[in-house]
Amino acid sequence: MSIYGTCNLCNSDLIYSQAAEKFFGNFYNCSQCKKYAIEVNIENAIMDPRDDIAKYRSILAGYLLERRDRKNPISIRNQDDLDRIINDPSVPKTITEKKNKLLKYISLSGNIGEIVEVPFAAAYAENDSELMALIKDLEKKSYIKNYSDDGGYGAEITVEGIEYLESSSNINDSKNCFVAMWFSDLMESAFNNSIYPACGENGYLAQKINDTHFNGDIMEKIHSQINKCRFVIADLTGYRGGVYYEAGYARGLGKEVIFTCKEDWYNKLVLEEVDTYKNKKKVNSEKRFVEELREVHFDLSHMNTIMWVDELDLKKKLFERIQLTIGVGVK
Ligand SMILES: [Zn+2]
Repeated sequence: MSIYGTCNLCNSDLIYSQAAEKFFGNFYNCSQCKKYAIEVNIENAIMDPRDDIAKYRSILAGYLLERRDRKNPISIRNQDDLDRIINDPSVPKTITEKKNKLLKYISLSGNIGEIVEVPFAAAYAENDSELMALIKDLEKKSYIKNYSDDGGYGAEITVEGIEYLESSSNINDSKNCFVAMWFSDLMESAFNNSIYPACGENGYLAQKINDTHFNGDIMEKIHSQINKCRFVIADLTGYRGGVYYEAGYARGLGKEVIFTCKEDWYNKLVLEEVDTYKNKKKVNSEKRFVEELREVHFDLSHMNTIMWVDELDLKKKLFERIQLTIGVGVK
């Protein structure tokens, strides 16, 4: 059964709505927010102006609008999900950040010469006067032409506006994920078949430094990419010092780091086949086995590491972890 109406978050038309599948709540397809599901108590609280949570309504609408190109619905199943969205680094906290969001929306929605309709959510604005103030300020700086009137809000990006956006890089908006990993055939394949698509399906671009020559320039490049990324995936397979270094560097900067490790590399005692030598000559007929402890360093062994068996397993678990702890990337 479907009921149509208005979206509780952004007031736009709903394409359809139905009960959520996996929890007590509603699933919506909104013309503006696109697909999302929300738990019933949280939805009621957001609609009640007396509730503290009501102030988050504009944040949710902005967050969903910014991710309008996503393939998968965004679920707000509980307080944790709500907190994660509210505290997402991409959510603007200052008036300048709201203005930048608005300008970015206008520039992404139309070229020079095209008037685009501006919804409240584009600026995470709470009301008419806030949106109008932001539009007027961008107009004053010649970043947009303002076409708002009694019928609604409209604007057009200018050359100055595009130049401003190009010159200001907003780190919190980064859709890049830095991947620290062992450079081996095993991991190259896991990157291509698991890590890259798991990031991509959540709206992030997985990047790795493909070079084994760790000279000064490479280190600078690694630092710069970690500085700019939204989060880091560190795969501990192979026990590589570089991976530990990069994960530590990222943690020091306060970045989220997701640890992964192939199961048979995680504190496993394995039998390694080695050659036998007699008088420094290899004896082909006498292969022998030695025990080798493949371990994750003690410092990291308590981290909530994703253990993976094969590429399919890694892709599935990584996709879920990114969705749960990082959220969906912005356009
Ligand atoms: Zn909506």
